Amino acid sequence: MHIPAPIAYILQKLAAAGYEGYLVGGCVRDFLLGKEPSDFDITTSALPEETMAVFAADRVIPTGLQHGTVTVLHDGMAAEITTYRTETTYADGRHPDSVSFSRDLGDDLCRRDFTVNAMAMDAAGNIVDLYGGRADLDAKIIRAVGDPTLRFTEDALRILRAFRFAAKLGFTIEKNTLDAAITLAPRLTLVSRERVFAELEKLLCGASAGEILSIMADGGVFEHIFEKPQINTAALRYIDSLPPRADIRLAALLDGDPHADMHIASLKTSAHFADSVKAILACELPNTSELPALRRVIFTSGKQAALDRAQIEQDPALYEALSALIENESCFTFADLAIGGGDVIAATNLRGKAVGEALQSLLFAVFDEKVANLREDLMDYLLKS
Ligand code: ATP
Ligand code: MG
Repeated sequence: MHIPAPIAYILQKLAAAGYEGYLVGGCVRDFLLGKEPSDFDITTSALPEETMAVFAADRVIPTGLQHGTVTVLHDGMAAEITTYRTETTYADGRHPDSVSFSRDLGDDLCRRDFTVNAMAMDAAGNIVDLYGGRADLDAKIIRAVGDPTLRFTEDALRILRAFRFAAKLGFTIEKNTLDAAITLAPRLTLVSRERVFAELEKLLCGASAGEILSIMADGGVFEHIFEKPQINTAALRYIDSLPPRADIRLAALLDGDPHADMHIASLKTSAHFADSVKAILACELPNTSELPALRRVIFTSGKQAALDRAQIEQDPALYEALSALIENESCFTFADLAIGGGDVIAATNLRGKAVGEALQSLLFAVFDEKVANLREDLMDYLLKS
C-alpha cells in the first residue's frame, strides 16, 4: 500500500498539530482491494478553520466550508479534507437537515453508506473498521451501514449506489440491503436527475453490469427511474461484452422502447451523450453487408453509431465489415466529396435546394461506385446526368 507523498504530508501535518487525520471511504476500499484509488479523501478531527490554519503555508481552497470540506493543494496533488461529521434527519430524502461537526471518528464512519466504504486508514496503514467492512470486502458483499431501510429512507441515492458498487466491484448485495433497496426504490423519484445519471453511468460501465441490471429489472427498479420503461432484458445477457461506455450500454438497455428518447431526455445528461444514445437507437442497419448499403448507413447514422449498433445487435460480421470500410475508405458525407456546392453552382444553372440534391446524387453515385470521388470525374458525372 503506497500513500502518495503529498497525502502522507497532509496526514503528518494534521498529527503534528494535535489532530486526528485518516484516509477514508473509497480510497481505503480501493487500497485494500489492491487497486489504485481515483482520489484521496481525508477525514479529520480538526474543524475547518483549524484545518485551514494547519495548512496556512499551502494552497487551501474552502471548497465546502459549511459541510466541513477544504481542499489542500500540495506538490501538485489535491486532497479533500473534511471534518468528522454527523448528519441529522433527512426530511426530503435527499439532504440532511443539518450537519454538525464532531471530534469522534466513529460519528463520521456511521453516516457512510456501505461497510466497505466506511473504513478509515491512518498514515501507518492501520485500519479503523467498525462495521466489518474488511470481512465484507473479502466476501465481496455490499451491505448498508446500520439499518438499510433507515439508510435508504434518509438518502434514496444510496439505493442506486448499492447497485453501482455491486456492478463495479462484482459484489453481491446482502439480502436485507437488497430487499430494502427494492422496497424503497419508489423513493428514487426524490433524487435529482443529475445524481441519478451520475450513478447510472458508473453502474452501466461496471464489469458486472448485466447481472445487477437484471436484478434491478426483476425488482422493478427502473419503473422509478424512467416513466413506464420497456427494458430490453434480452440485452442484459451480453451487455458486459459491450465496450464499457454508458452511451452504448444505455442504448442496449432501452432498445425497442418506443419512448427511449424521452427516457434519455429525462436524465440530465450532456447533449453530446443524449445525441449519441439517440443516434445508436435510430440507426437501422441493412440486412446485407454489401458495401453501398454499408456506406449509406454510415452516411445516415455516423461512423460510431453504426459500429455501436452492430455491436448491440450482436452482429460481429457486420461490425467487421463496417470497421474495414471506415478504415479503408474516406467518403461518407457531403464534406468528404471532392467537389462542393460552389462547384455545382459554377458549372451548372442549378440553384438553391437543387444544389444539395445534386450533391446527394453524386454522393450516392460514389457509394454505388458509379463514379470515383475525384474532382474531374465528379464534374463530368454532374454535367452528364
Ligand atoms: P469512487 O471510487 O467511485 O469515487 P467512492 O467510494 O469514493 O467511490 P464517492 O461518491 O466519491 O464514492 O464518495 C466518497 C465516500 O463518501 C464513500 O466511500 C462513502 O463513504 C461516502 N458517501 C458518498 N456518498 C454517500 C451517501 N449518499 N451516503 C452516505 N455516504 C456517502
Ligand atoms: Mg470518490
